[in-house]
Amino acid sequence: MLQANERVERAGLIEVNGRAYNLSDLAARPVAVVCVDGCEFDYLEAAAAAGVAPFIARLLSGSDATAVRADCVMPSFTNPNNLSIVCGVPPAVHGICGNYFWDPRANDGQGAEVMMNDPAYLRAGTLLAAAAGGGARVAVVTAKDKLRRLLGWQLKGICFSAEKPDCATLAENGIEDARVLTGLPVPDVYSAELSAFVFAAGVRLAERGDVDLMYLSTTDYVQHKCAPGSEGANAFYAMMDRYLARLDALGWTIGLTADHGMNAKHDPRTGEPNVVYLQDVLDAWLGAQRSRVVLPITDPYVVHHGALGSFATVHLTDAAQPADSTLIERTMAHVAGIDGIELVLDNAQACARFELMPERTGDIVVVSRRDFAIGSRRAAHDLSGLTVPLRSHGGLSEQTVPLVFNRRVDDIETLYGGRRLRNFDVFDIALNHARQS
Ligand code: ZN
Ligand code: ZN
Repeated sequence: MLQANERVERAGLIEVNGRAYNLSDLAARPVAVVCVDGCEFDYLEAAAAAGVAPFIARLLSGSDATAVRADCVMPSFTNPNNLSIVCGVPPAVHGICGNYFWDPRANDGQGAEVMMNDPAYLRAGTLLAAAAGGGARVAVVTAKDKLRRLLGWQLKGICFSAEKPDCATLAENGIEDARVLTGLPVPDVYSAELSAFVFAAGVRLAERGDVDLMYLSTTDYVQHKCAPGSEGANAFYAMMDRYLARLDALGWTIGLTADHGMNAKHDPRTGEPNVVYLQDVLDAWLGAQRSRVVLPITDPYVVHHGALGSFATVHLTDAAQPADSTLIERTMAHVAGIDGIELVLDNAQACARFELMPERTGDIVVVSRRDFAIGSRRAAHDLSGLTVPLRSHGGLSEQTVPLVFNRRVDDIETLYGGRRLRNFDVFDIALNHARQS
């Protein structure tokens, strides 16, 4: 009988988290999946319409390309979606439900807010690591270093961030000082150049010809500041257009999607952010220390959104006290009555609907309306870095994302028996269904 890995190698097929990926054509037809952080479909259409992104315009309308809308995973944040894309499954399987979660067992049972950027929290392997194990030559370039260790988990290949390309070593990142790829200076973490560096490095790797499966993941710095069609946004998409056109010319199959969309969450008259400060609301209603609001958008890089997104979880109990269902119900009803709140679910409802992990989700999940964000305490948010009116994400209103290929994909809408298309289908479609014209 054949060993499992022998069978895999012969067929050019790998199976990861219940999905199969065909690697047999990669050497002749390399594949790049690009996750454009915060890319509402409108950004692509506006840049194409403005005439600054001719390649994107071709993707949106060309007969040899495919452009549809798909759903990202909830919460519509960066880490859960990037991990869903590289694992091919929702957070219930891979475990990364946000940037942060409340771990009641941490801190000797006292509980603590824990950052989920450590691979220790990953419950599933990535298809990138499996593809590398199956013989593919894999490279990952991510904008922010916070994602690097998760995306590169057990990967035998190249994996570095545009934030710290100078720190890359052969042993840790599969490449020594990644600055040499682009000749560009190390970009500021809050800049459009951070994403440009990702594309420049990806194109250079493609030109060198020593990788055949790439994952490029940008940052939403521009999208947090600039609405679709604005000068800043169009400049970003014009930059991206040139790099994508180059990858296309080099013969790469490109699958483009986003981790989430982006919407204005401020009063259009005053420019002031529309925020429900949920911890203040619950402290006033339940009393202090009776609840804990966790904002999974929180990460070490909050300057451009002030840690304000459209998704929160609330813990009403701790490990020592079992949940009180009437308290949960009464609190849900109270929160549902707040102006700006779109949806309130209990743990079981939220985990079923959003495919989340129950032990990493609070007793209550709260989602705000398209034009509102959720905060904890007003005093806990430093909004001094918000130099332009708040745009953010996290809610259902940012769940629709582009799913675009520079190839024909026959009957894409019915590929999965009628279930909605997801951003985490992008590798399956690019590797298994995209047709060379
Ligand atoms: Zn993002
Ligand atoms: Zn963001």
